[in-house]
Amino acid sequence: MLYTSTRNSQLSVRSTEAILQGLAPDGGLYVPKSIPHYQGDWETMSKLSYQELAFQILSLYFDDFPEDILQTCIQAAYDEKFDDDRIAPVVGLSDHYLLELFHGPTIAFKDMALSLLPHLMKAAQKVLGRDEEIIILTATSGDTGKAAMAGFEDVTGTKIIVFYPKGGVSSIQEKQMLTQKGDNTYVFGVKGNFDDAQSKVKELFNDKDLAAELQANHSQFSSANSMNIGRLFPQVVYYFYAYGQLLKQGAIQAGDLVNFTVPTGNFGNILAGYYAKQMGLPIDRLVCASNDNTVLYDFFNSGTYDRRRPFKLTISPSMDILVSSNLERLLYYAVGQDSQAVKDLMAALQDEGHYQLGQEVQAAFDSFIGAYSDEAETRAEIKRVYQEDHYLMDPHTAVASACLGKVKDQLAGESIVVSTASPFKFPAAVLESIDKGDSHLSDLELLEAVQAANGLDYPQAIQAILEADSRPERVIEVEEMETVVREIAKG
Ligand SMILES: *Cc1c(COP(=O)(O)O)cnc(C)c1O
Repeated sequence: MLYTSTRNSQLSVRSTEAILQGLAPDGGLYVPKSIPHYQGDWETMSKLSYQELAFQILSLYFDDFPEDILQTCIQAAYDEKFDDDRIAPVVGLSDHYLLELFHGPTIAFKDMALSLLPHLMKAAQKVLGRDEEIIILTATSGDTGKAAMAGFEDVTGTKIIVFYPKGGVSSIQEKQMLTQKGDNTYVFGVKGNFDDAQSKVKELFNDKDLAAELQANHSQFSSANSMNIGRLFPQVVYYFYAYGQLLKQGAIQAGDLVNFTVPTGNFGNILAGYYAKQMGLPIDRLVCASNDNTVLYDFFNSGTYDRRRPFKLTISPSMDILVSSNLERLLYYAVGQDSQAVKDLMAALQDEGHYQLGQEVQAAFDSFIGAYSDEAETRAEIKRVYQEDHYLMDPHTAVASACLGKVKDQLAGESIVVSTASPFKFPAAVLESIDKGDSHLSDLELLEAVQAANGLDYPQAIQAILEADSRPERVIEVEEMETVVREIAKG
């Protein structure tokens, strides 16, 4: 399997190289030159464990990894760190199913890929005969930073440095990061917003002098962001797994269509669903669910992508985004894999803040429906599902669930909502939605109230922040980021 860049079809690398690089040198995203077809039959697939299925699917994409090494990576990723041995269980509500992707170490869906990525990076180095120290730089709006630190914790030959906007993440998210273990993990609050931290990280990545210094020190930067194929393809697995579970539960017959509704931010999760469909999984439509930041809803309904709009803060912060990076991969397929066309569209987005697709290209988006749920609708959905099913959803999942309700008459087959976080991660918003909110409650009291409402034990991730010691908080100016990165890289 060879990978090329969405912005330069001349480029051609193997998966090991693409995983270590993250982004292509031209700024494009790596895409496989052809999408493999899943060869198995659905009945047999439904009997596989998550790990067995992960191996079947990932060996199609990561075929330059020796099979035993890929197996070892998968076993190390999907182990007791997950609190359910199905890894990604499907549960039934009265009007649809939920694919729960929050049973990993940080109780958000980023764990599905970030548990595996560090192992893939180390293995890729081994295959390519390299041994530089890998330094991961990440700016986070909350979930990615913690999941990446948990994934890289004590992985030899790696360091991870996370920057989060001080005051811009939830109190639970901050605690999760400050109680992170591992001698190779570093976390800083930055006086600025997420974009300030993100821009600085990008600048450091592109700094040629810094890169030369690192090389002299036998180390290199790498990225754990969702554009890395080492994050994208592990996410394809759970779409197949969900289908297998519905089959096993007798909810569908082999070959029946199903549809997925995905709470979307950077377009990584739903894009994995698109790959699953292209590989032959019987998916009818993929519903792209947005919150009040409706840039993707507008795009799917008009063919115009326009980031020139206010950024809205919502109770589903991991979906607060104006530029969905992974959409570039879908565009690449939409324009018939014409990398020059993608390059032009991305330049227009960068320089003018928008682009417009023609009618013929829009036809390629038939697999998708765009929908959105505003704040009031999202809260009402949390309450409705709690009252009807005694199930407490997190706000991201609730956005998707509400969106499904709006477009259900356009869909065929059983409906699966992709559930991306545990309600314990966003207790204040969840409690407010079921009329049990109180701004005076401490974090501990909020968590206790969620527990009283859903009757579930604390996940391990919550237990950990209640018990573990916090490291001293370090808050720095944006201008200091470069200095701390240099110090950590050297030390
Ligand atoms: C990251 C995240 C999303 C958005 O996923 P994308 O792959 O960026 O579209 C949705 N919900 C939660 C809880 C997340 O952490």
